[in-house]
Amino acid sequence: MTQITLALTKGRILKETLPLLKKAGIEPVEDIFASRKLVFPTTIKGTRLLILRGSDVPTYVQFGAADIGIAGKDVLLEDQGDGYYEPLDLGIARCQLMTAVPKGVSSHNGRLRVATKYINVARRFYAEQGRQADLIKLYGAMELAPILDLAHEIVDIVDTGNTLKANGLETRDHIADISARLIVNKAAFKTKFNAIQSIVNSLSKSVSI
Ligand code: AMP
Repeated sequence: MTQITLALTKGRILKETLPLLKKAGIEPVEDIFASRKLVFPTTIKGTRLLILRGSDVPTYVQFGAADIGIAGKDVLLEDQGDGYYEPLDLGIARCQLMTAVPKGVSSHNGRLRVATKYINVARRFYAEQGRQADLIKLYGAMELAPILDLAHEIVDIVDTGNTLKANGLETRDHIADISARLIVNKAAFKTKFNAIQSIVNSLSKSVSI
């Protein structure tokens, strides 16, 4: 029997992932949200789920600790790792990667300070725009940075825009459309081809329903 390990992203993505997995016939045998466990067997023998922080999903898949992963495109753009394929856009957890600035403030002239957790994405974006930017790495609450003059602008994911609005910010430049993607370890895709292909196929059908 082929063992398949699927690394899932906890939080918002997980809530939208579980119904998709269910449609594809993969269900955890116990309630993930009622448990503090990190590994869950599923109704498919040999297939288990890992519940991880989003930025750890590509790492687990790249090194083959998980065969398949589900992660936001924002995390994958930032990760820049190889070692995995990205065969499927799951169309869930949609949002936008944007820059945001204090409302009504015109563009900052001169050297820009940008706060973000997406350092690699931001570096590429400002380089493509030909703009000089000093990047400041934060791990959360990016919206605070412009209010406290830590940065002129931020790079973050935005869904409704309510969080920005509540903190006196507004979106400026669109960097990328984001949704959750399926990734597959390159070696596992060869050695466990049938089992992985069958999961990719079932998920791709559940996405289009
Ligand atoms: P919103 O107020 O709807 O623009 O979203 C506020 C926060 O929710 C953002 O700062 C993000 O950190 C988070 N968020 C938005 N969309 C997603 C998503 N698709 N996946 C994970 N987190 C998200």
